[in-house]
Amino acid sequence: MLNLVLFGPPGAGKGTQSARLIKAYKLIHLSTGDIFRLNIKGGTDLGLMAKSYMDKGSLVPDEITIAMLESEVNKNPNAKGYIFDGFPRTHQQASALDDFLISKGTSINAMLALEVEEEELISRLLKRGESSGRPDDQNTSVIKNRIKIYEKETSILKDYYAAQNKFFGVEGQGSIEKITKSLIHAIDSIT
Ligand code: AMP
Repeated sequence: MLNLVLFGPPGAGKGTQSARLIKAYKLIHLSTGDIFRLNIKGGTDLGLMAKSYMDKGSLVPDEITIAMLESEVNKNPNAKGYIFDGFPRTHQQASALDDFLISKGTSINAMLALEVEEEELISRLLKRGESSGRPDDQNTSVIKNRIKIYEKETSILKDYYAAQNKFFGVEGQGSIEKITKSLIHAIDSIT
């Protein structure tokens, strides 16, 4: 299996690049943000609960997010591998993911971190908010809170994967095509 964590702050281009990489490597794309948004649309209890956190730009509690992610993986027993997008976001999620994958006889091969400056992130997110309808992309203070949480709670995961020799930083500014090429280059160097 090939299991990748596509990492980076909100607006780094994880969704865009995931869509390109799953085609190249025949992987399953699991975006916890997308799954929460689907649940909100479907009016499920999970969606209702997640919305109260997402609207503020806060993280949904670990236990709920981890259980949801594991259940999505369990739905695809024959997968060739996964791109985890927006997960893990905390140390607890990263270590739960490691334990879970070990229990399935597999592991994370690499964390690919898209590196983008804060000013560029804010402008990308506000632009996305004009077309996506995502409420958390339309409010500058919610965007800033998401970036702050990323810096405080999530960016430390670079060290978590670096300690396992699995961290790859990739320039996330420039053309979409060029960034995909850099990601493919990093993936091919480990496979
Ligand atoms: P995203 O689509 O990745 O930008 O996520 C949108 C929102 O969903 C985040 O701001 C969080 O509120 C929530 N969310 C997504 N993934 C996670 C996660 N791994 N842990 C906690 N909350 C998450």
